[in-house]
Amino acid sequence: MSVRVPAKVNLQLSVGPIRDDGYHDLVNVFHAVSLFDEVTAAVGTASGGTGPEVAVEAAPGARVAVGGVPVDGDNLAVRAALIVADRLGADPRVTLRIRKAIPVAGGMAGGSADAAAALVACARLWDDPDEPRLCRDDLMEMGALLGSDVPFAVLGGTAIGVGRGERLTPALTRGTFHWVFATADGGLSTPAVYAECDRIREADGEPAGRPEVSEELMTALATGDAKALGAALANDLEPAALSLRPSLDRTIEAGRDYGAIGAVVSGSGPTCAFLADDAEHAAELAAGLDGAGVARSVVRATGPVPGATIC
Ligand code: ATP
Repeated sequence: MSVRVPAKVNLQLSVGPIRDDGYHDLVNVFHAVSLFDEVTAAVGTASGGTGPEVAVEAAPGARVAVGGVPVDGDNLAVRAALIVADRLGADPRVTLRIRKAIPVAGGMAGGSADAAAALVACARLWDDPDEPRLCRDDLMEMGALLGSDVPFAVLGGTAIGVGRGERLTPALTRGTFHWVFATADGGLSTPAVYAECDRIREADGEPAGRPEVSEELMTALATGDAKALGAALANDLEPAALSLRPSLDRTIEAGRDYGAIGAVVSGSGPTCAFLADDAEHAAELAAGLDGAGVARSVVRATGPVPGATIC
C-alpha cells in the first residue's frame, strides 16, 4: 500500500500572542505543492518485533539528507500507524518504507506529511474495504493528535488553519501557481524559531496582535492572480528564521534578483519559497538560483495539489 503526500508552503503565517497552553494563536494559510514523499506500508515486520518498523531513504534523484529522521518510535509515521492500529484493533506489526523528497526540518512539514501518509496507508491496509470505519475526517482528527500540520497533509489543496493551525477551512483558488524552492544545508528547529520570534518581539517591545486572514491573499487566490499572490505572501516567522540563519537573506535577495514575484521563508524555514509568473519563468528562476550557489538544492513545484493519495 503506497501513499504519496505533498509538502506545504505557508502563504500566510500570522503568529498571535502565546496562549495559556503554551501554543500561539495562528492564522495559517497552507498550500500543498507537488514535492512528494512516498510512504509504503506492508503487513508484518522483518525483526518479528511487536510494533511498526520504519526505513527511511531519499527518493530517487532527491538531494534530501535523511540522517536526522528517527527510525524508531519517534518517527511520526510510526506514531500514526499505532494510532490507526489502536482505533481499528489491528495487529500493529507493519513495515513502513519512507522515500523522502521533502527536505527534513525544512519548514515544509515533511514529518507531518509522512504521518498523514501513514494514516491513510494503514487505514487502507487494516480497515474493512466494504464498510470502512474511518473516513478522511476521522483521519484528520487522528492526525491532529500528532501535530497541527498533519490534518492539512491529509486534506491538501489550499486551506486556512486557525487555532494552533489545525482547524481547517478549504480556500477558494483558481488555476495553478508555479513555485521554486531553495533548500538549505541543515534544518531549523520549529520550537527554536517560535522562541526566537517571541524573543525578537519582546526585545522590540511590540506585542503580537490578533492574527487575521489576509483579504488580499484570499482575493489573489480566488482570482488566480500570481502577482497579487506574490505581493500578499507573509510569514511572521521570517525575521526569526533570518536571525537564526542570516545566510537566508542572500537566498531571498537572489530570488528577487532573478525576478521572483514573491519570496518568503517557508514556515519555520530554512527552505525559501519563490513564486514565478508561469512554468517558463519558474525554469529560468530555478536556473538562476542554482547558478547563484545560494541553496543546497533548487526544486520546482506547482500548487495546489491534493493531500495524501493512494498511488
Ligand atoms: P514543520 O514545517 O511542520 O515545522 P519541518 O518541515 O520544519 O516541520 P520536519 O521535516 O517535519 O520539519 O522534521 C522536524 C523533525 O521531526 C525532524 O528533525 C525529526 O527529528 C522529526 N521527525 C519525526 N518523524 C519524521 C519524519 N517521518 N520525517 C522527517 N522528520 C521526522
